[in-house]
Amino acid sequence: MTNTQLSGVLRERDACWEYCDKLDGNKVRCRFCHKVLNGGISRLKFHLSQIPSKGVNPCTKVKEDVIDKVKAIISAKEEYKEFQLLKRQRVAELKQEYSNDRTKVNLEQQIGKQYEVYVNYFEDHN
Ligand SMILES: [Zn+2]
Repeated sequence: MTNTQLSGVLRERDACWEYCDKLDGNKVRCRFCHKVLNGGISRLKFHLSQIPSKGVNPCTKVKEDVIDKVKAIISAKEEYKEFQLLKRQRVAELKQEYSNDRTKVNLEQQIGKQYEVYVNYFEDHN
């Protein structure tokens, strides 16, 4: 999955709101089983996806295609977080690398170039 595709899926994460009603005090009501969940949309995602999570009972009335959709939203989010973390690590490494170079010629430019190469590599191998 490329970064662009990922952000597309991420924008869709609010799609989960169509499966619940927002109540006061960070509570949501599931539209399938009408259970009220504390903790908002993130709890609802675990409820709907039926992924076991502490303190969240899986939904018993949710449809199969909704389970798949919510699961995709959750995993895309995790993947994206990991991608951002890797990017940060690589940039830190590059900065370290270039700070050891006494000349420090066009430091930012060099980091920019390598960063681009790295991002392309990551997307090609994903
Ligand atoms: Zn439910």
